[in-house]
Amino acid sequence: MLKPTIGLEIHFEAKTKSKMFCSCFNDPEEKEPNKNVCPVCLAHPGALPTINKEAIEKIILAGLALNCEIKNYSRFDRKSYFYPDLPKGYQISQFDFPICKNGYLDIHLNNGETKRIRINRIHMEEDTAKLSHEGNSTLVDFNRSGVPLMELVTEADINSAEEAKKFAQELQLILKYNDISGANMEKGQMRCEVNISLSETEKLGTKVEVKNLNSFKAVEKSIEYETKRQKQIIEEGKEVKQETRGWHDTKQITMEQRDKEDSFEYRYFPEPDLPPLNISNEEIEKIKVRLVELPDQKRKRFREEFDLDDKSIEFYINEPELADYFEKTISELNCWNKDCVKDGSIKLCSNYITTDLQSIIKSDSNFDTIEKNIHPENFAELISMIKKGEISSNIAKIILAEMYKTQGDPSDIMKKNNLSSITDDSEIETIIKGVVAKNNKAVEDYKNGKENSFMFLLGQIMAESKGKINPQKAKELLKKIL
Ligand SMILES: [Zn+2]
Repeated sequence: MLKPTIGLEIHFEAKTKSKMFCSCFNDPEEKEPNKNVCPVCLAHPGALPTINKEAIEKIILAGLALNCEIKNYSRFDRKSYFYPDLPKGYQISQFDFPICKNGYLDIHLNNGETKRIRINRIHMEEDTAKLSHEGNSTLVDFNRSGVPLMELVTEADINSAEEAKKFAQELQLILKYNDISGANMEKGQMRCEVNISLSETEKLGTKVEVKNLNSFKAVEKSIEYETKRQKQIIEEGKEVKQETRGWHDTKQITMEQRDKEDSFEYRYFPEPDLPPLNISNEEIEKIKVRLVELPDQKRKRFREEFDLDDKSIEFYINEPELADYFEKTISELNCWNKDCVKDGSIKLCSNYITTDLQSIIKSDSNFDTIEKNIHPENFAELISMIKKGEISSNIAKIILAEMYKTQGDPSDIMKKNNLSSITDDSEIETIIKGVVAKNNKAVEDYKNGKENSFMFLLGQIMAESKGKINPQKAKELLKKIL
């Protein structure tokens, strides 16, 4: 059986105030071309680089989050190649002394297994300028030139498209949680390349590199495509060519690429304009305390403390702001976590956040933060009202929408809009009798065995009461009256 062996190279831009070697703004969102530039990032002769401390702290943070050794000694090197997006004719990068070495990341697969993917290194370098092609001409924007860029290289521990995708997704979460990088793939803040070879034995096959992967989907699809393509070549008795290919997103295929780098020897040598980096253990420890709870730690805690199902947990892992909101609401529910789990309050609260609240947020184009609209204390009160049966789920939806709009308190909204439930049996019976009197035909049909008519009558009753009757109660009393 031919087995794919895959390694990933992932670049991500550091979120810092200024660029890697000059004081220009690091603003990937800047629309005006060539605004954030200076002699250093434009490579004017004689301009000297200086190291951005914040960027170094961010790569150390990334290394710590990814279980790497942080090296006390590292240095920058020149990687020479010629391309229009590289004004110096070389990129300042790191060759044999990267800052982070020998880490790993655990990923959780769909079959329930956990797999450890080793990380060979993470090093610091600078991003290139951006080229855009218009008609027959090419434009260069240097806003991105010199933006701090980290490159992570995994060991070839990955054996499927799913594993590669999961690795990239988990990495993105970690970078975002710790504010290391915006890590937005569509915006090019995070970019993936895969190396893939097929082999039947332990001896690796010929490696093909695939570039231009700007989404998780592209990572997954390109691996699936390459696996199939290489398998066919091998089965035909031919040899896979060692090459760099590009992913064509519209055609969903990889294509041969005339690569700027393949024919080049980079001639790495130590950057003479920058001193080597000496990072003390004390400095590393100081940065370590800035690490926030990692996605996997949160998964474990949410499972143990709140007994949530996997689907809800993944929702919160991907929506950390709503996860915080969920926890704040729980603490306002005034019960110990264990009791709240037992009596169903936590599950109820979570369900309202992951469904109703989430859909309200999604439909609000001006959404800023949830706490601005609904204070956790008010949200907790709404959950208690539902829990105690004071309002039906239909009424809860109405009140929730109103709370979001007016930042109001749920019991005030209930009173003001006359939304409290009708609990008095005789009052409910009056409504039911009214509906029955108006719908003779349906009543007759029901008595002749048409079950649908019963549901129709029930619907009329709920509409008449504006959802203020508990449906179970309405069902019981309707049956009795009929
Ligand atoms: Zn600059």
